[in-house]
Amino acid sequence: MANDVAQQLEEWKQKYYHSITDLEKQQSYDELLQRSLARLALAAQGLDPALDRQLKSLRNVLRGKSDQAEIEQILEQMEKAIARMESNKSTDNTLSTGQILADLLLTLKLPKAFKSKAKNLSKQFKATDNDNIKPIMPELLSLLDNCLNSASSTSSSGLGFNLFGLGKTTEKESPPPEDSQDEVDNAEHEMPAHLVLMQLLERLALPTELSKKATKIRHQIETGIEQSQIPHIINDIAEIVSSLGSQAVTEKQEYEEFLKTLTSRLAELDQHIRQTSDEDSKAFKERHVISQAVEEEVSGLRSHVEDADDLEQLKSSVSGRLDVLNQHFEKYRKSDHDRFEQSQLQIQALNQRLQSMEQESTELRKSAEESRELALKDALTGIWNRQALNEDLEKEFTRWQRYQKPLSIVVWDIDFFKRVNDNYGHAAGDKVLKTIARIFMQATRDADFIARFGGEEFVGVFPETRLEDALSLANKIRQKIETSKFHYENKPVPITASAGLATFRPNDTIDDVFKRADAALYRAKEAGRNRCIADD
Ligand code: GH3
Ligand code: MG
Ligand code: MG
Repeated sequence: MANDVAQQLEEWKQKYYHSITDLEKQQSYDELLQRSLARLALAAQGLDPALDRQLKSLRNVLRGKSDQAEIEQILEQMEKAIARMESNKSTDNTLSTGQILADLLLTLKLPKAFKSKAKNLSKQFKATDNDNIKPIMPELLSLLDNCLNSASSTSSSGLGFNLFGLGKTTEKESPPPEDSQDEVDNAEHEMPAHLVLMQLLERLALPTELSKKATKIRHQIETGIEQSQIPHIINDIAEIVSSLGSQAVTEKQEYEEFLKTLTSRLAELDQHIRQTSDEDSKAFKERHVISQAVEEEVSGLRSHVEDADDLEQLKSSVSGRLDVLNQHFEKYRKSDHDRFEQSQLQIQALNQRLQSMEQESTELRKSAEESRELALKDALTGIWNRQALNEDLEKEFTRWQRYQKPLSIVVWDIDFFKRVNDNYGHAAGDKVLKTIARIFMQATRDADFIARFGGEEFVGVFPETRLEDALSLANKIRQKIETSKFHYENKPVPITASAGLATFRPNDTIDDVFKRADAALYRAKEAGRNRCIADD
């Protein structure tokens, strides 16, 4: 309806402009004004009740060879009425219930006794928004009731009060509803009540449920009603109007409930999409598509929610959009599922690959350790070699620097080993070296470190061992070597060894300690061999 009004308004504006253009070349200003106004008054009739009143006055003034001031005044009021129509059009597509009832009251031709009360009430309605109409409704009903009573207590034709001039006979006597032919006269007539009621019903912008009721009433009016039915009908309409408020509340609640469901459904979709943390680019693209779709549908929803004034319409539009979303989502879920199965297979293959790689790497690590150990062990005796000794000494030296616990070393040299080789052969010498290495290993603790330094020289590193303790240990070993029965080709081979010992002192380097141990060994050799001497 609002659109019709807008369209008509546009049409008569156009007509008005054209009239001016055509006329302004030949007519005087006054004539132009008068003729334009007359056309305007006709063209704009029926667009808006307030405007109509101004137009009627204007027509009267024009007919009576008006004066300028009066026309100007009317024009001013018309401008206001049009401005109000325009603002109604732009802010609210439907008139408020208060506005409708106010207009209704003004449209009704009431007996003088009720006029001021009606005017008052009309003002109240105009100033009231939909939510607060209910309390005023009883006043309207009582006013209409009073009018009715007054009408039935007198003959309706006699008083000229024809508010509910209905029935087939009265209708014939009633003036035609439009006043296009004879504006002045017809305008003075009351509008027949059934038309007023119809108009009222038509103007109400009702939600679905109420609109059904209204249609029913309209149908009832159209098929003809008795005067006695009028109060009931007014009551029904009043009920519709007053339930508009509570309807608005329930509708709002339903609407909020619905939006809540909607929000949670969208949230579910969103969560499901997010949960699928598959990183492949296809999934990414599909997620992009679906999130775009969600965005589109949601923004569509938002604008629908803003525009729609009917819950049913809103629901169906929202459901439609949700269906579209669901289709998108189903499609996504299917390819997501395929992708999932695919990736499960890939994961299995990867797992197998990973397992065999782990096995490979374990083997590699083992063989690396083995080859490293090989690199650090002496091939002949199987104990640590000089390289291992260097590494161990560095390590122990660092610990000694940090913790300052005693650290001693023993340097061994087999006595007259050259002779062994010379007398029994190199192989016998090798066998002796192996046996001595075994004696060292058996006589020392795990924490001690014994290495073959080279040739027939061995070095022992003894952490947390003071020099005198190292000396007594060295002597024990020395005795074991001496008392071990070496034989070559059933002949006993006497073997002894000498040792020089030293312990780490403040500010010592490894080299310093080695030198002192070597010096001690030299003294042991000088002193006659088969002895251990500690550096003082
Ligand atoms: P000293 O008591 O002064 O130490 O007398 P020595 O004969 O042991 O003297 P020296 O240390 O100079 O001689 C070491 C000998 O050890 C030289 C070499 O023949 C022998 N030798 C070194 N390495 C090996 C080896 O791997 N196997 C064998 N069988 N003999 C070795
Ligand atoms: Mg030697
Ligand atoms: Mg020697």
